Formats: sequence, structure tokens, C-alpha cells
Amino acid sequence: MSKKLAVLPGDGIGIEIVAEALKLLNYLKSNGLALEMIEAPVGGAGYDAAGKPLPDETLELVKESDAILLGAVGGPQYENLPRELRPERGLLGLRSELGLFANLRPAILYPQLADASSLKADVVAGLDIMIVRELTGGIYFGEPRGIREKDNGEREGFNTLVYSESEVDRIARVAFDIAMKRGKRLCSVDKANVLEVSELWREVVTRVGTDYPQVELSHMYVDNAAMQLVKWPRQFDVMVTKNMFGDILSDAAAMLTGSIGMLPSASLDANSKGMYEPIHGSAPDIAGKGVANPLATILSVAMMLRYSLNEMQLAERIEKAVGTVLDAGLRTADITSSGMQEVGTREMGDAVVAALQAG
Ligand code: NAD
Repeated sequence: MSKKLAVLPGDGIGIEIVAEALKLLNYLKSNGLALEMIEAPVGGAGYDAAGKPLPDETLELVKESDAILLGAVGGPQYENLPRELRPERGLLGLRSELGLFANLRPAILYPQLADASSLKADVVAGLDIMIVRELTGGIYFGEPRGIREKDNGEREGFNTLVYSESEVDRIARVAFDIAMKRGKRLCSVDKANVLEVSELWREVVTRVGTDYPQVELSHMYVDNAAMQLVKWPRQFDVMVTKNMFGDILSDAAAMLTGSIGMLPSASLDANSKGMYEPIHGSAPDIAGKGVANPLATILSVAMMLRYSLNEMQLAERIEKAVGTVLDAGLRTADITSSGMQEVGTREMGDAVVAALQAG
């Protein structure tokens, strides 16, 4: 049966990079992948089309789709809009409306790009980490929150860090399932020496671990995890952590790989329905110039095939095709270095399709 994909290019370079992903998907369709693709506006494009960043029709479409491919949202022309109409609200709306609680952020260093990392090549060579971040709970959503006045007239800001057992249980299961498909090692990151929330987190993760005896589970305090990520990142296979810790650690891990234009992400619900997007934004500084790197979006398609559409082999073929193109020396401006052939967005997309065809 044909699966339904909602395609939301969004704003800025989102339009250019999603066009390359569609090129690839159309190639796969012509070779037997049963997929229906429907495009809809979101972010600034949603505001332009329907007066809000997540138009009703877009929301209806994503709810009835099996997966969502998103480009990026945002742009300077939308910055002065009231907060609830800003493009980023469209993204938050998608996450909460669809219950996308599990954010998967791989940090993979392609050997061909080892020089792009800010760390020494021998420290990062072979880096392949999956960070699983809880996305819809924790301190970013906890109540009560606000800024209040104390008796002495001074103001204080406050937020609430709260996780229920079921929230920890479900994110832990996602992480263990992923570890089973990879190196079977899971590191749970917390701050159990200081926070009661983390104490419970650790207890629940350990309990879930008894259902996955083949996975080697370890626990690490978040401050140490930050240190270990830059000291010896290859020790990690899969990491699981709460919303705020994951926000910070996944950005640090991303930079180990050198280029923001190479990194995909997935956000999944309880039934593996997912939204797939590059981790970067709409890059207004290069939008419309045809120079954006489409590989993060193309690799997001690979994640979609693996996690939502159950097409493991196709996912691997796409990842291999990206490797082939890099081996051939093709580079967009963000990852180029001397001796390489600099290409634009379209040429890079064409090259991946050609490598897929040849491989
Ligand atoms: P950004 O990720 O858009 O850009 C940061 C830098 O990286 C820029 O110099 C940009 O040119 C470069 N870059 C990003 N993606 C690239 C690619 N594929 N190829 C080559 N170079 C690339 O972050 P920003 O400049 O802080 O934000 C710009 C806009 O994007 C803002 O409106 C912001 O709110 C939004 N944003 C959206 C998302 C999202 O849609 N998920 C994420 C982050 C930022």
C-alpha cells in the first residue's frame, strides 16, 4: 500500500534543499517505492499563504500522513511578527500536535570530511553517535513557569523540571530499540547526583533496560558527558537524555562533525510516525543562491525510510551514495577544501541520484 508523505519545504534554503530530496524520492518512486507526496506551506510560507505559520490544511495533511519531510523555517522578513505568528511557532505546533516526543540526532563524521571538525582528525575519525533527546517534556514545558515579584520587590524567574515515569519509559524504549539496531550500547545522561527528576529518570531507564538484556546500559552525569563528548567521542554509540540536556549535547555533538549542512534529524511519535528535517535553519544569508548543501536533507530522507517507512535497504543505499559523492571529491561551499570540486545545490542532488543509480 502506498505511504503518504507530507512535504513542507518552508522558507529560505528549505525550498532549494527539499527540491533535491524530492528529486531523489521521485527517482525511488520510479523504481518501485510506493509513496504519495503532497506539498504544503509551513513557517513563513504558511503565514504568507494562510496568515498563520501552521495553516489548518497543513495540519490536516500532516495528521493523515505517514511521515513529514521538512526543509527549514524562518527569515528576517518575519522577525517583527507577533510571537504566535512567527515561523518557528509552526515547527513547535507540528511537534506538539503530532506528539513527536523522540528526537533522534545522529552525529556522523564522514571520513572524507575529517578535516572539517574542530577536533583533531584522529579523535573524531569514525565518529557515529545517535543522540536520543526527549522533545515534548521536561523544563521547556513544565508548569508552573514565569517571572514573579518577591516580597522585597525583586523579580525572579522560575521553571519546572518534571518528568513522569511513563514519559521516561517511552523515550527509554525508543533509545533501547535504536541501540538494538546499532552497536547495542546505550548511555543514559542525567544529573542524578543533584536532581530528584534525574534519580527517577535513572531508576526508570534501568528498569526498562531489563527488557533489553543485549544492550549494555551505562549512566553518565551530564557535565561529564559534555566533557567526554569532546575528549573521546567515539566511546558513545547511543545516548538518551532529557529535553534540555539533549538540546545542548546534540549541538555540541553536531559541531564535532564540522558541518551543519550534513546533519539530519528525526522526531518520532509512539507509532514511529516521524518528521524528518536537517538540523540547520533557513540560512537567509545564502537563500536563493543555489549554494546550500542538500545532503542533510537527503540524509533525512534516509532516516525517514529507515524509521517510518521500514525501507532499511533504501536508507543504506542513500547513505552509501552520499559517501560515493564525497569520495568523488564533490563539495558544496560549506564543506569544500583545497583540491575538491565545488558544486551547487542542484549538482550535488544530481550527483547523489546518479550515484544511487550506479550503485
Ligand atoms: P542557520 O542554520 O540557518 O544558518 C547558520 C549558518 O550556517 C549560516 O551561515 C548558513 O549559511 C549556514 N548553513 C546552514 N545550513 C546550510 C546548508 N545546508 N548549506 C550551507 N550552509 C548552511 O541558522 P541561523 O542563521 O541562526 O537562522 C536562520 C533562520 O533559520 C532563523 O530565522 C532561525 O529562526 C531559523 N531556524 C530554523 C530552524 C528550523 O527550521 N529547524 C532551525 C534553526 C534556525
